[in-house]
Amino acid sequence: MCGIIGYIGRRNASQIVLEGLKHLEYRGYDSVGFAGVLNSKLVIKKDVGKVDEVHARLNFLEYNLKLAIGHTRWATHGRVTRTNAHPHTDCNKRIAIVHNGIIDNYEELKKELISKGHKFRSGTDSEVVAHLIEENLVDGKSFEEACFNAFKRLEGAYAILAIKNDEYEIVAIKKGSPLVIGVADHGSFVASDIPAFLNYTKKVVYLYDYDMVFLKPEPVFYNIGNGVMLKVERPIQSVEWDAEKARKGDFEHFMLKEIMEQVDTVQRAVAQDKRILEKIVGEIRRAKGVFLVGCGSSYHACLTASYVFSKVAKEHVNVILASEFPNYEHFLTEKTLIIAVSQSGETYDVLEAIRAGKKRGSKIISIVNVMGSSLVRESDASLLMHAGPEICVLSTKTYTSQIALLNLLAYTLSDKYEEGKRRLKYLWNVIYYLTSANTRNKIRKLAEKLLDKQHIFCIGRGLQYPTAMEAALKIKEASYIHAEAFAGGELKHGTIALIEEGTPCIVFVSEENAKEILSNAIEVKSRGGYVIGISPVNSEVFDFWIKVPECGTENPIVQIIPIQILAYQLAVLRGYDPDKPRNLAKSVTVK
Ligand code: GLU
Repeated sequence: MCGIIGYIGRRNASQIVLEGLKHLEYRGYDSVGFAGVLNSKLVIKKDVGKVDEVHARLNFLEYNLKLAIGHTRWATHGRVTRTNAHPHTDCNKRIAIVHNGIIDNYEELKKELISKGHKFRSGTDSEVVAHLIEENLVDGKSFEEACFNAFKRLEGAYAILAIKNDEYEIVAIKKGSPLVIGVADHGSFVASDIPAFLNYTKKVVYLYDYDMVFLKPEPVFYNIGNGVMLKVERPIQSVEWDAEKARKGDFEHFMLKEIMEQVDTVQRAVAQDKRILEKIVGEIRRAKGVFLVGCGSSYHACLTASYVFSKVAKEHVNVILASEFPNYEHFLTEKTLIIAVSQSGETYDVLEAIRAGKKRGSKIISIVNVMGSSLVRESDASLLMHAGPEICVLSTKTYTSQIALLNLLAYTLSDKYEEGKRRLKYLWNVIYYLTSANTRNKIRKLAEKLLDKQHIFCIGRGLQYPTAMEAALKIKEASYIHAEAFAGGELKHGTIALIEEGTPCIVFVSEENAKEILSNAIEVKSRGGYVIGISPVNSEVFDFWIKVPECGTENPIVQIIPIQILAYQLAVLRGYDPDKPRNLAKSVTVK
């Protein structure tokens, strides 16, 4: 889940790698490191901390280099220490590597290498890669051959960049973790994600698993999946993303910028090629068993969709957390359809789920934001969200885009494509109002009241239940206040015991279930709870009311927005950085 970046070419590689690391910091941010080559010696700078802090201490720009690699870490193996920060080197400090992912067989490899005399310094799995390359630099073998022989032995998920003190080359490999090449007239880039080099080029090459690339500086592509180095062609493609969109601009945080962008992103999600939608609808109709699969917010979008599919299209779908999917794999057949939902298209658990489906001949449809991602390439058809880069670790705009797309699918499935589209287009006005300065100021007052609370409950019924779950997740991730969601009818089966004087409870109300959910709100209020209503109309049970116009099946898109803003403001008021919450990383590419 870390970010890696490399550059080789005529420009100052130190500068480019430093900029790239800042753009990638959302992927992992416990430590940061940098390696380059200067006069046939490796220069290594690394430490614990954020990019700016470490750069201030170590000055990544000390040398003007023509080749450099960098890494922001999200530790999986080994504590957060300077020694464990990447890059890692071999015994003789001639080889430096950065790695994203987990080397599953590192213990076995490490034992073997230690028995051959290698000295390890860190507690990471990644360090074995540097020693393994060193071990293979024998019998006049070239650096490229040594890398190939080393990579062949690795099991697990990895994107790796390797450099050597006396080579003008970056060697890259990818299996299971994301890696993309950028091509410019002055040199080549390689990174975990496109925003890392979007300031310099929009020409990219997406890689397949087991692709091994030699950047010297033009990229040369091989695939080593069959145990031999097979030369392959990989097309250069242009990305539509705009470098401006990957910058914060006047906003203090990406989170707020991305919340505000929803006025536009929901509209972009709706602008789909009708033929693709119809093709997918055909697959849904033909399927015997449809599974919606996702993690985190994407899972909540899937849950929301199960209500909409049921209501609008009378279609039953199974919703499974991707990490729990192995328990259901025995149901998969050639007639099964899996709809996988992921912002990055690189989420490990989701990829594992669809791969299990593919093995059994099931069809795979995906809903993804990142074009060219593994999920898109491994699916039979994909719907792209077109939401632009989402940099904040917490998902906001891609959550609403996912729901918009799933709603559009449900309406198309019931032969009401035009109606679905019209309903979604109408949301423009509502989102504009919900993200306006007026609404934000009002929500800030609420955030000030909730600032020191230890628990917040969220309740909803029907379509509003998954919204309550997403609301609780947003509040937890951004503010670290414990929040929990319940179906309105469930409170009285236990949790109501926790309601005390002043316990906040956010109640999501829709016209359809107003009577029932308001009676649950009264139960809370009677026990001293502080009731916050997200509702089209005010009610005397509310202590605080946020007006959200009634949008029927689109309520989940609009009702979450005030809570995204609330979570954002709680984080800021409590002194946290909502873009980089502790312990979290975007695009979870590990088990
Ligand atoms: N497994 C490696 C480590 O713990 C890489 C983690 C990452 O992807 O940041 O250092």
